[in-house]
Amino acid sequence: MTLVHPLIDHPAVIAMRQRVAEIGALLFDRFLTDAGGGNITARVRTDAGDVLCMSPRYSGSRHLWRLQPDDVMVIGLDGAILAGAGSISRESKVHLRLHNEFGAHGSAVIHAHSRNTLVFCALNRPMPPVLEQTRKFGTIPVVSYAPAHSQDLADNIAAAIRGSEARIEKQAAAALAPWHGVFVIGKDLEAAYDAVERIDTNAYILLMGGRAASDADFSAERANLEAAVRRYSG
Ligand SMILES: [Zn+2]
Repeated sequence: MTLVHPLIDHPAVIAMRQRVAEIGALLFDRFLTDAGGGNITARVRTDAGDVLCMSPRYSGSRHLWRLQPDDVMVIGLDGAILAGAGSISRESKVHLRLHNEFGAHGSAVIHAHSRNTLVFCALNRPMPPVLEQTRKFGTIPVVSYAPAHSQDLADNIAAAIRGSEARIEKQAAAALAPWHGVFVIGKDLEAAYDAVERIDTNAYILLMGGRAASDADFSAERANLEAAVRRYSG
């Protein structure tokens, strides 16, 4: 039976369910996530309370990220399902944790299996910024291993994000889960999407550059360019 909640008809909720569906398709089409996973939550603040619009379980494997707005779940900040016929995403523990802890700074969380970023997850290696457009994220940390869908994973991701609240307010903060994927919390859904894409491009540049230059060349040039950027930013 489909559950119904008064906020399901709120214009902002209707618009956000549509937007979550669109962002999911973009992530998939641009290899920023895969059929195996990824999930999106975006918070809508209303006079009657806050809700999260969340991509449903099996968005990739069954829907191939071709979600209709009605497929997008509406849930409370406690994870209670308010609207939507499906079940909530398996990575909801991380999403709920980030929204509850960092909700004053950001309103959207994306977890993605981005093709290039996954190389760093597989290598269990933090990713330094090597482009002007990713400097704002700093070096993206990789957290200690915890299984997908576990409370430990939620704890580890939240701990890695903590201290990066200013980054969320500016655009987004991110952390890598080893052997798994990236978690991003952004000031809004567009900012979070943009961050996922920038981070994956940064990974691509490191991977491709590594074929032309050694890691030592990279870090030497990074130091040079970082100093040059700093001279301009005073
Ligand atoms: Zn995943």
